[in-house]
Amino acid sequence: MAIVQVENVGKRYLLGEQEVHALTGINLSIEPGVFLAIAGPSGSGKSTLLNIIGCIDTPSSGRVSIAGREVSGQTPDQLADLRARTIGFIFQSFNLLPVLSAEENVEYPLLQLRELSRAERRERVRHYLGMVGLSKYAAHRPNQLSGGQRQRVAIARALATHSKLVLADEPTANLDRRTGEDILRLMKDINRKSGTTFIFSTHDRRVMNMADRLVRIEDGQISALGMRAGKSWVF
Ligand code: ADP
Ligand code: ADP
Repeated sequence: MAIVQVENVGKRYLLGEQEVHALTGINLSIEPGVFLAIAGPSGSGKSTLLNIIGCIDTPSSGRVSIAGREVSGQTPDQLADLRARTIGFIFQSFNLLPVLSAEENVEYPLLQLRELSRAERRERVRHYLGMVGLSKYAAHRPNQLSGGQRQRVAIARALATHSKLVLADEPTANLDRRTGEDILRLMKDINRKSGTTFIFSTHDRRVMNMADRLVRIEDGQISALGMRAGKSWVF
């Protein structure tokens, strides 16, 4: 079963008198375990598509299912639960809470999982901070960390809830080239070892080329679907 199923999705925004078609006729079926890039120029609709897949925005038309559950059929409580347990987010500006330490930021979404005891939460935080190489930085606040370290905290936070699906909106946009590549390699490594599905957006060709599946969007429409074959893409 596909982890993400998008059927004929459209998204329109009203800007004053004018209607903006951010997405038109999007169809996608994403298999579990893939490392997928959504590539396209700025303004092409990448964030809108990720937000709709992540259930933080709703389509104007069409249907979305996540792990076999149709999103529009969920009550608000069910949707909050689906988001908390199934989906992790990584953002270009990291979106960490500035007054919390690295470990408190990773623990934060775990507070929503009521079945976890305090000891179980602590153990998860320890495990995932270790996985991203930040065990020694657990007590640091975001402003005491580099950009790459902040994004590592965000990756640990996205994984700690045992999300099956991690959505990353331009995760390297605020990092220098080498740090961005390190972050992508870390995500890829976790994807390979854990089978967690990663979907990330980028307008950077180098970053895009680290994916094993590619969705190219232009002007709110899919213009190409690619699959990696060795060093090149098959469209
Ligand atoms: P990308 O992530 O590829 O840069 P976006 O998904 O952010 O693209 O935007 C796609 C289009 O939708 C753009 O034309 C953008 O201006 C428009 N758009 C996005 N969000 C809104 C909004 N809240 N209100 C009006 N227009 C929007
Ligand atoms: P070159 O610089 O050799 O002419 P391109 O600029 O066409 O090659 O492609 C650079 C990389 O982007 C290659 O890995 C290629 O497979 C990939 N690529 C080419 N066309 C597209 C496309 N429409 N969408 C996404 N990736 C593409």
